[in-house]
Amino acid sequence: MKTINIIRDFEDKDLVIDSLEEIDERYFHINGLCPISLKEDVLSIALTESFSNLRLIENIKKTLQKKTRLFKTDSDQMISLKKDIFSSLTSKKKIELNTFSEHSCIAPIAENLALFTGGLSEIVKTVNRIIIQGYRENATDIHIQNMKDSVIVRYRIDGLLYDSIHFNTNMYEKLITRFKVMSRLDIAETRLPQSGRTTVRIDDKAINLRVSTLPTRTGEKISLRFLYGTHDLLSIKDLGMNKDQIDSFANHMSVGKGIFIIGGPTGTGKTTTLYSILQKLNDGSKNIITLEDPAEIEIGCGITQVQVNNSFGISFSEGIRAILRHDPDIIFIGEIRDRTSAQAAFEAALTGHLVLTTVHMPTIPDIVERLYQLEIDPLNITSSVIGVGTQRLVRKLCTGCSQKIKPSSTAKRFFADFELNIEYDFSATGCAACNNRGYKGRTGIFDNRYIDDENLISYFMNRGKNIKRKDKYIELAKESFNAIHKGITNSEEIIRSLW
Ligand SMILES: [Zn+2]
Repeated sequence: MKTINIIRDFEDKDLVIDSLEEIDERYFHINGLCPISLKEDVLSIALTESFSNLRLIENIKKTLQKKTRLFKTDSDQMISLKKDIFSSLTSKKKIELNTFSEHSCIAPIAENLALFTGGLSEIVKTVNRIIIQGYRENATDIHIQNMKDSVIVRYRIDGLLYDSIHFNTNMYEKLITRFKVMSRLDIAETRLPQSGRTTVRIDDKAINLRVSTLPTRTGEKISLRFLYGTHDLLSIKDLGMNKDQIDSFANHMSVGKGIFIIGGPTGTGKTTTLYSILQKLNDGSKNIITLEDPAEIEIGCGITQVQVNNSFGISFSEGIRAILRHDPDIIFIGEIRDRTSAQAAFEAALTGHLVLTTVHMPTIPDIVERLYQLEIDPLNITSSVIGVGTQRLVRKLCTGCSQKIKPSSTAKRFFADFELNIEYDFSATGCAACNNRGYKGRTGIFDNRYIDDENLISYFMNRGKNIKRKDKYIELAKESFNAIHKGITNSEEIIRSLW
């Protein structure tokens, strides 16, 4: 019969706490054992004389794929050993995650599970928790980065980054490997940026994620982006436009030809707005083709989405010309970036198509000025443009905790510059419903002008130049003022997002 093979009595020097961070010590604890070091493939374990469960030791070897070395302790020594290990490991791990129900585990994905047997399953659990927490908090992105002495996980929620989890750097490389395997990236490649996708299942819902790596001085950084599906797209009514804005939008789009250009800084929801418009226009009677870089969200049945791919020769301008040979009614062009793509977009609009596109410019006069800089024929501009819009995305106050307050002097000054007199404001107090952030969800602030708008006509006449800063922002400021007035957001959020 096999017996437990004790090496010798435990000595203090045998204990290497730092090496144990991947071990789930609780498992040992409940089974009357104590892990004391993990060196390469050898796990050292302390046990008392009374321990006789040989099968448990065999199990540990098999599960963790490690050899074991066993050391004898007396029961007093065992108690103090456990206390040392557990207190220092728990404080070191610092993993503070919400509790997840058992059902919220991520479903198996096609992957090489053999890489993650045994002790590494803690890594798998950590990766799952990182993703689930992001999903639960409606994060759009998750950033995981090695900051020299700790690994930090940050979530982008309602447009802002929040620090969430810090843990020991020893886990980092394995975490990266796990993410790479999930998204079928080359695990051996650490010097080049990589990008892939994975699908996980949370609460019976398939969630698509884009996983990107970036080599940095402190190792590879991982960024995850939640890629939402058709069902997550907003209807035009939910964007934050008021009724007049929606009606005038629908009226001008119904002409069915010309170009509508929407501007605003990065991350202000330009694409979301145009996607919801496309969905509204997609009544089955029109051929809608998009050209995007990248085409991440499936917009809907019957809409053809084309991805820009410069290495295969599909640039924005070449893509537009190719699309025109497919008899489109409506073309969505992800972004006008340069002269050739701008000219191709205007040519498409001139030949009787409805073109929707975005440009990275903050205000309407800036967008107009940009069109002239891109050397679009002035006659084409005035004969093709249906409208120009700009938008901002602001966080909405949590209805559970926001309170009416007197406006600050900063808020008064800010609105006074636009000849607006703010009488009251709202605090973002914070409560359990909003995770103490004071805000929950976002809404758009819009300034849309159509070709029958006198201001827009005068901007075209001036080629967008010589417009005072105050005048460029006045409409966004008025819309923001109304949003505060209705208690949707507050001045702090407006001042942060307007410029
Ligand atoms: Zn709240």
